[in-house]
Amino acid sequence: MENLKKTLAGIAARGAEQLFIDGEWRRATGTQTLTVVAPHNEEELLSYVEPSLADVDAAVAAAREAFDKGPWPRMSPPERGVYLRKVADLLTARMPELAEAWTGQVGAVIGFTGKASYQCPGLFNFYADQCDTYPFIDERTRSSGGKVRVVAEPVGVTACVTPWNAPLVLLIYKVAAGLAAGCTIVAKPSPETPIDAHILAECIQQAGLPKGVFNMLPAGREVGDHLIRHPGIDKISFTGSTGAGKHIAGVAAERLARVSLELGGKSAALILDDADIAQVLPSLVPYSMPITGQVCFSLTRVLVPRSRKDEIVGAYADAVSKVKVGDPFQADSGMGPLAMQRQLDRVQGYIEKGKAEGAKLALGGGRPADLNRGFFIEPTIFTDVDPDMTIAREEIFGPVVSFIEYGDEADMIAKANHSDYGLHGAVYTQDPERGFAIAREYRTGSITINGMVVDIEMPFGGFKQSGLGREGGIEGLETYLETKTVYMP
Ligand code: NAD
Repeated sequence: MENLKKTLAGIAARGAEQLFIDGEWRRATGTQTLTVVAPHNEEELLSYVEPSLADVDAAVAAAREAFDKGPWPRMSPPERGVYLRKVADLLTARMPELAEAWTGQVGAVIGFTGKASYQCPGLFNFYADQCDTYPFIDERTRSSGGKVRVVAEPVGVTACVTPWNAPLVLLIYKVAAGLAAGCTIVAKPSPETPIDAHILAECIQQAGLPKGVFNMLPAGREVGDHLIRHPGIDKISFTGSTGAGKHIAGVAAERLARVSLELGGKSAALILDDADIAQVLPSLVPYSMPITGQVCFSLTRVLVPRSRKDEIVGAYADAVSKVKVGDPFQADSGMGPLAMQRQLDRVQGYIEKGKAEGAKLALGGGRPADLNRGFFIEPTIFTDVDPDMTIAREEIFGPVVSFIEYGDEADMIAKANHSDYGLHGAVYTQDPERGFAIAREYRTGSITINGMVVDIEMPFGGFKQSGLGREGGIEGLETYLETKTVYMP
């Protein structure tokens, strides 16, 4: 934890100045003290004063001034790209700190965070490239002959509200795309995971972005609600639970603020009758419960042909039972704890509900016997799950996988689509074109054939109640743009 200690020392050196507003570190004027707890040992990592509503007002005013009068939206996109690449370089230099901040706050194993944290500079570099290549001004000719410039302009001051599970990557999806577009930002990270947002603000400050372009205040729901209701906010970009997303969409609708939503999921892995189980396990095992199952795109429903159920469940359970659950800072740990006590309570509640509704507990279900501190839970498998059971329908956000049997292909598709969600998915088959045809039938935002890929350079987002809009890829940039049509003389 040496790198995390270094980050915390940097934060402590700022004393009471813990909010990044208008290009400087400022003191929060709220009255509540928030604490950040390491979920593997329940020890306090950081305590800080929550911002007040007046602090939110100050951050929005700074972002508003920077948007309405400052240089950022008026620069050429390639000029903005130069700043974005500087931020990417500064983040790259702090990669060990990013990985340990993620592991320390969330309990995601270091073997995973060490690799996944590269998405942070990766997103800044990708959107810097878009600054150079995206057609921000598209010259067109009307059929009647007149010239037209279709201009992609920044949507304005954007509130970026993010959850705790992959705190910095999910924030940077928004910030890098929004900045590339020319927006100014008020970022509200989750109150449980402010540490890596501090690193981001430090890098942005060091890269010399104009003041007010990026503002950061970690806070809870009440303060967050003031931010999303603020008339100075033109767009809300939210990642989090579907419940909060619906509320935010309603608030945005009142003033027709632009809104994009990345919400929950209940993604299905569809194992076809011809699938080779040896090719299924290397992606299904880690991605059915990444970050202890606390990832929106986790493959938490596994649909198996009835004729191959015992073979597939047996092989999967065997592989999952070999995953070492333990201290997430240990290199050989394959699964850490859940992120907080309320997550442990929630997951235990769903396990009890699964049992009560008649699903068969095939593996796990309790606390690992050798771990008496931290929010640990065993990887858990249910079989004989009916698609209408609560554990098959609701997002558990923990390492709990439901096996659902199907008869023929039509039954499989019907069961896969029997969900309020549609975020991600996987099809396993020896015939990629058959897999593609099935992918087209599954109502979901993205899907991988024979594996599990989420690439920051490609669009990601949900059908149905999994969200609205896309992040990542060129589509992720476009959610921060408004189209203006200028008819030239
Ligand atoms: P959450 O909805 O409780 O909170 C998310 C963020 O929104 C937090 O910062 C929270 O403080 C804030 N918030 C909540 N209500 C608010 C309000 N009324 N006004 C302003 N801010 C508000 O979610 P969580 O428990 O932090 O995260 C878990 C959820 O996030 C899961 O449902 C998961 O699927 C979802 N998620 C989705 C994606 C995706 O890309 N689709 C990615 C990661 C997580």
